[in-house]
Amino acid sequence: MTKLADLERDYQQLLKEHGLQPNVFKATEEEVRQAYANAVSTEIGSLRWGKINVDRILAIINNSTGYQFLVDYLSNKLERTIRRLYPSFDERVLARDFPTGSFNALAHPTPNGILLLLNTGLVRFMTEAAWAMAMSFPNPGEVRKDMYEGWWTSAQHKRQTAETMARLVLSYLLIEKPLCGKEYKPGQGGIWEMYTSYLAMAVFNFVLAHEFAHAIEGHLTSGSAILLSTPVGNLSLIAKNHKQELEADETAALILIVQWSEDAKANPAEKEVLAINSEFVVSGPILFFNLDSLITRVENELFGKKIPQSLTHPPAMERAAAVRKVFYPFGGDSILMMADGVTDWFSKIEKDVVDVVKKMTCP
Ligand SMILES: [Zn+2]
Repeated sequence: MTKLADLERDYQQLLKEHGLQPNVFKATEEEVRQAYANAVSTEIGSLRWGKINVDRILAIINNSTGYQFLVDYLSNKLERTIRRLYPSFDERVLARDFPTGSFNALAHPTPNGILLLLNTGLVRFMTEAAWAMAMSFPNPGEVRKDMYEGWWTSAQHKRQTAETMARLVLSYLLIEKPLCGKEYKPGQGGIWEMYTSYLAMAVFNFVLAHEFAHAIEGHLTSGSAILLSTPVGNLSLIAKNHKQELEADETAALILIVQWSEDAKANPAEKEVLAINSEFVVSGPILFFNLDSLITRVENELFGKKIPQSLTHPPAMERAAAVRKVFYPFGGDSILMMADGVTDWFSKIEKDVVDVVKKMTCP
């Protein structure tokens, strides 16, 4: 039984075909230790992560390349839930960090199984976007109704946030990697560091679950192969239609909420943390769809064209509405609270970002 090794070979082959090298993790030991110290400095953080052995984290990171440790952690956990939830699903699956700048993931069938490829660009972009968002939040205890439009300390603060977001979206659209945007380093999110990493993780988890869902629903064998343009050439993948995309979104949402309830059963004492976690579960896809929608809006403004993805994917906000419907019965309005905050934030910043982009040139 070394079939997974065959799939691993397919992955290495794919990298080679596209002239790609696995990423190397860039954070130093010092940075990881600092990020950990920040994470446990809050009450929730210390409850959640206080007992973790940080040397173990360092060992995992040192034995990994790029974001593979993160992909391993999320996909192994997801797969355990999925095998329980879908006992008849017997495809072999291997999830890998894929070192391109694209803001997406894909399921790539091979004769030996299915490769789930999470693009590095998605991880980097999403982490920076969550960070930019958190930078505009009031400190805990500040009253939101006194804030500018409910989020910012002043109109100028809002403008700065819009500039950061604009740089991110532009650098993604123009060269698909951070350009004049700041590179994210652990610890930058200050008091909101926990929020930043949880939210970004929730996005990656959703994206992986969505690709798993295509495999579960049998979408990978039914379509015709099309080519997706990536910064490094073309990857063949299966053309999926709007109906299948919405199905994958809904199945992913269901898998995530089941995973959350399994965690809740395993840790009944951590009630508060679990309640917050359920809001993160919902906020992950909602953040992803809001960003997708913002990128599309900026791209339309700049180039007057639609992103190629829209050939196969329904409009982002239609997808957001579909997953909200799946989550709602599991917690009513309260499970949607953080996600509604995310949507509100984007609805207020969107126009400013577009304004900035129209005027902007990189230094
Ligand atoms: Zn899809």
